[in-house]
Amino acid sequence: MKKTLLLTAFIFIIAMLSLNNCKSPDTDQDNSTKDTVETKTLTLKDKVDEFAMVELTTDLSVLSENQKKILVLLIKVARIMDDIYWKEVFHEDHNVFINKLKDESYKDFVKINYGPWERLNGNKPFIENINEKPKGSGFYPVDMTHDEFNALEDKYKTSLYTILRRKETSGPLTVHFYHDYFKNETEEAADLLKQAAELAENEGFKKYLELRAEALLTDEYFDSDIAWMDMKNNIIDFVVGPIETYEDALYGYKAAHEAFLLIKDMEWSNKLERFASLIPDLQQSLPVEDKYKSDSPGSDSDLGVYDAIYYAGDCNAGSKTIAINLPNDEKVRETKGSRKLQLKNSIKAKFDKILVPISDILIAEDQKKHIKFDAFFENIMFHETGHGLGMGNTVDGSGTVREALKDQYTAIEECKADILGLYIIGVLYDKGELTTGELMDNYVTFIASTFRSVRFGISSSHGKANMITFNYFKDKGAFTYDKEKGTYRVDFDKTKEAVSSLAAKVLTIQGDGDYEAAKTLIEENGKIMPCLQKDLDRISEAGIPRDIVFRQGEEILGL
Ligand code: ZN
Repeated sequence: MKKTLLLTAFIFIIAMLSLNNCKSPDTDQDNSTKDTVETKTLTLKDKVDEFAMVELTTDLSVLSENQKKILVLLIKVARIMDDIYWKEVFHEDHNVFINKLKDESYKDFVKINYGPWERLNGNKPFIENINEKPKGSGFYPVDMTHDEFNALEDKYKTSLYTILRRKETSGPLTVHFYHDYFKNETEEAADLLKQAAELAENEGFKKYLELRAEALLTDEYFDSDIAWMDMKNNIIDFVVGPIETYEDALYGYKAAHEAFLLIKDMEWSNKLERFASLIPDLQQSLPVEDKYKSDSPGSDSDLGVYDAIYYAGDCNAGSKTIAINLPNDEKVRETKGSRKLQLKNSIKAKFDKILVPISDILIAEDQKKHIKFDAFFENIMFHETGHGLGMGNTVDGSGTVREALKDQYTAIEECKADILGLYIIGVLYDKGELTTGELMDNYVTFIASTFRSVRFGISSSHGKANMITFNYFKDKGAFTYDKEKGTYRVDFDKTKEAVSSLAAKVLTIQGDGDYEAAKTLIEENGKIMPCLQKDLDRISEAGIPRDIVFRQGEEILGL
């Protein structure tokens, strides 16, 4: 029962900003650079410096010698995934290409972007004489046309796990499964996974590693996905293989290789289990009429907190993923649900390197003490809890909220998650369940975090949601702006009222399935007002990093 509640509770985890997809907002495909970040001409060195260097470490003293040996093997597998990914995104040998470059900044920037195209700037080429990035990345021949693809008779051409090439330079298209095309790499990776499986003491983990090795050799991932869902108490986790399809912007068919090596944060994971048991109470505590909270939140998914110690391939390209929601296979999700993994040390790195410097500029001097990592992390975690609260169906029983709100749904849903997250943190403080700091920390950190996330623009639902809340708060006097100093000051009591009233408003819109009200709320509030834009420009001009890049591996970990 307890487990069910845990699952129930923390439904859609998707880090700071992304709904129904497995990447964090920071990697949303639609949040490419806005003019807000291009207010001055940056040299390539500046662009490299926009990625703050972070060492990926965690406390490994909790691991046995065997477990440490496993890590060494899995890092090797991750490097192979990195190698395959390069081949999927770049038609030349990347090492040769990088070595030809004279300037260190160019080398670094090519590595950050996995190629000569700037991922956070609409994939524009940043090296002379380089063509536009092919939409289909390296998964298809660059000169392939839609007609040619459509005419090709091969049932595997749309498979997640095939790559298309030509017989000769201009010959007919050929379709190759990854395990054939990357035969040497996948065989080596599978062999290393089997060695790791032999060392594994945790039965679930052992089984998963064995099945994942088989999956790489056959490109059939179902059994290993099921085994991954069944793992419950292993401390090491390893997400590996061809997984997300964002890199294929041509058709979205092809999965790109990647790997995350993770160590579970037991303390936080236990805390979450405790909070999960409170979900029914939290639902009842919502500040709306009973009919808008008559659902019993339920889902069959679970949530964990991890430190990442190695990123490779797709997840390491450009902006860094900070939360994972997998597997993608609907068949697995139907029977087993999905798992949501928050990568705490990566989130911490973004907090230290980006949020704190932003707060230094934009938050009132005497309120800077409220900018706290715990508050930031709680805001993210309870955002996910917030997604699971409220109503799934409209109160008149005519259908789902999603159907009723149509194209307005995702922005309203993200707004709901943000605001209910803040609301239930307040409830948990009142109940004495949260004692890490004070509610004011969550409020001030929330406002500061809005400045961070809205730098990625408002084309995403998360960006719109951020602005709805921000502008609503502003209208309610939840914060004030000091024009002379250019800083924001949070008013605790007014914020508390605004949180309740916006929560009620959004829950009512959802429960009523009120499309027009949703549209009006978004149209009136879901935009960046000119006064805020000026402050965002100040952040950019101050050279505050936009993202992070990792130093990682055996040496950093002391293995
Ligand atoms: Zn969300």
